[in-house]
Amino acid sequence: MHRKPMVAGNWKMNKTIYETRDLLKEIKPLVEGVEDVTVVVCPPFVGLAIAKRELEGSQIHIGAQNMHWEASGAFTGEVSAGMLEGLAEYVIIGHSERRALFGETNETVNKKVLAAFAHGLKAIMCVGETLAENQAEKTTEVVTRQVREGLQSVTNDQAKGLTIAYEPVWAIGTGLAATPEGANDVHKKVIRPILRDLFGKDLGDGMLILYGGSVNDKNARELFGQSDIDGGLIGGASLKAASFAAIVEVAR
Ligand code: PEP
Repeated sequence: MHRKPMVAGNWKMNKTIYETRDLLKEIKPLVEGVEDVTVVVCPPFVGLAIAKRELEGSQIHIGAQNMHWEASGAFTGEVSAGMLEGLAEYVIIGHSERRALFGETNETVNKKVLAAFAHGLKAIMCVGETLAENQAEKTTEVVTRQVREGLQSVTNDQAKGLTIAYEPVWAIGTGLAATPEGANDVHKKVIRPILRDLFGKDLGDGMLILYGGSVNDKNARELFGQSDIDGGLIGGASLKAASFAAIVEVAR
């Protein structure tokens, strides 16, 4: 089963609008004409408009990092899926920082996933176990619940716009990436079978499962070389044009 790899940059709370424009000006020529990898950049909300302007005519896709599930109302500081329409094509949902720092649960992740699909956005749903869960050998149990509960009521049609990112929390921003074999085992033996079970073999086999957690241009080759690692969600290394472009090149 051939899956076109994806490399998505999660900029987190970094880059002003001017820095967003400048970084994209640097990235664009470096990934120009890359057709065999889906390249996505996810700046903060305030950078989406300038990113859209800067990426006009480019094959680089734009994602947001979060959204609220309600359409509108008294939710100070929040942004709805409808507000992202026209600005972002993708949205990251349930990143571990949102789960750990902003109280997101599998239930709220599920509401967000459904709201994203209702507005035609593509969802990159993040899952992954903490260090304590990993050490207690609970990875399978935790990731299974995150995937199943996060995807409740998602239809086969909606699932065509779904990407999963497996991001072990202990590997994010620590410089300690999972081993390629260890990450691939979670993708292949835990997540892929659930996707097949929920959406059928063809759809389940065709879905992208990204790895995230301290990916850089040095370790990407071995990670992306695994059978079920279909690219990466990149944090720190997506903030420099050269390292982001080098990771895209590896994914090709
Ligand atoms: C992330 O935040 O999604 C991430 C993978 O971060 P980093 O690459 O910096 O570990």
